[in-house]
This record gives sequence, structure tokens and C-alpha cells, in this order.
Amino acid sequence: MATKRAGKRSGTKRATGTKSATRSKSGAKSKAGGAAPARSGTRPRTVTKRGAKKTASKAVGGRRTAASAPLSEYNAKRDFTRTAEPAGTVPRARGKALQFVIQKHAASHLHFDFRLELDGVMKSWAVPKGPSLDPSVRRLAMEVEDHPISYNTFEGTIPQGEYGGGTVMLWDRGTYEADDGGGAESLRRGYEKGELRFVMHGKRLKGGFVLARLRRPGRPQWLLIKRRDDHADVDRDITAEQTTSVATKRTMEQISSGRRVWHSNR
Ligand code: MN
Repeated sequence: MATKRAGKRSGTKRATGTKSATRSKSGAKSKAGGAAPARSGTRPRTVTKRGAKKTASKAVGGRRTAASAPLSEYNAKRDFTRTAEPAGTVPRARGKALQFVIQKHAASHLHFDFRLELDGVMKSWAVPKGPSLDPSVRRLAMEVEDHPISYNTFEGTIPQGEYGGGTVMLWDRGTYEADDGGGAESLRRGYEKGELRFVMHGKRLKGGFVLARLRRPGRPQWLLIKRRDDHADVDRDITAEQTTSVATKRTMEQISSGRRVWHSNR
């Protein structure tokens, strides 16, 4: 309620601003003028502020619901009669080293899907530019829905028109661990906190990385950053250097022209 009212109010203000002749000037004025009283006005009325916060945490609550029914979002987005991607199920805990996989995905926009195993699913981020070995480079990583662990062997082509339609290459894989030796518990805490520090033992990616969540509204956005260690290298452009599958050595073109595209370990 309180949030709605606040929204209406700012809407009225914007409309008033647009009416005046010198739009940008008065727009800026009304913005500045609007912001100050609104802030001081909401201060005693903490209800408004809390109301807004509640809306935000509702979204988080929604994600929590998704977590209680693991992979429901993943499954809802896909038609498994049309795509060779695996249906999402959560296997029994195996107590093995945690897996990671990075898939190069030529969908509507080329990106790298960065996936870390945690609690029976692959926590997933879409990284438009892919990982960098340069610790001064921060790569945007947009969190996406959890994927099943069985997705870690998926390489092939998702039909056009289906969710994520395009070619998927297994770009790197291996195991990873918390950098403080705290195991899954530490990783879980880092994920919740929005500061995930880990060490990768991949074919191509090795050493420390951090995923740091940005304070932005909407779907969580993170930054993927290489940590300073022996595996950091400012001179190498790893995504330009490695353009074939870590599993089959195929190029994107070879994968997309391949018929049978699903590779399973079993
Ligand atoms: Mn993707």
C-alpha cells in the first residue's frame, strides 16, 4: 500500500515536470526537489521505507520458494520433448569434490555459462565476456536459474525457438573448493552473503576467483574476478585462446553441424 502510494506520487511529479517548457531543467529540478522532501518525509514514516523493502524481500522469498522445489524454474523453462538438455533432478549427495563447468553458449547473445555445484544443483551465472585471468578485470555475471548437475556433460545444440536456443560448448570443467578450506558450508555462506571465494581446478581455469554480488534491484548480478595468485596472467586472453571444446576438441561450428549432440558420461 505504502509503496503504491509512493509510486503514484512520483508519477504525478514526473507528469508535472514534463508539462513545463524547459523539460530537462525543470525535470532535474523536480527530481532534486522531489528527492529531498521525499527522503526527509519518509524518514519519520519508516513504514514507507519498510514497505519498499518488503517488496524487495518478496522477490527473494520467491527465489527461496524456487530453492525449496529445486530446479523447478529450470524445468518450467524447457520442453524436454524438444531439447536434448537433461531434465532437472537432484541426485543424492555423493560427498565427492564439488564440480564446476563453463559452457560457451551461442544463444541470441554469445556468453559463457559459469556453473558451480552446491547442494545438489549447479548455481549458474551467464557471463557475457567470459572469465578473465587478469585480476584487474571484473566480468559481469548475471545469475540465472539453478541447473541440474547432469547438465555438466551437455554439449550440443538447443533448437532455435526453444529456451536458450543455440550451440553449447563445454569450455572448461573440473572441481572447485572454498578458498578457506571451509567446504560446502563456507561456499553456502559466501553465496548467501554475495561474496563467493573459491579455487578452481579446471583444465583451463585454475586458482582463486571471487564472485561478488552487486547491490542492484532485480535478478542478482555479480562480478567475476580473478584473484592475484600464480595462475593470474594479465597477458593471456583465455577466451580468445581457447576456442574448442574441453571435452571433444570441437569448434562451435563443428558442434552446431553435428547430428547427435548429447554426450553423457554413462
Ligand atoms: Mn546460457
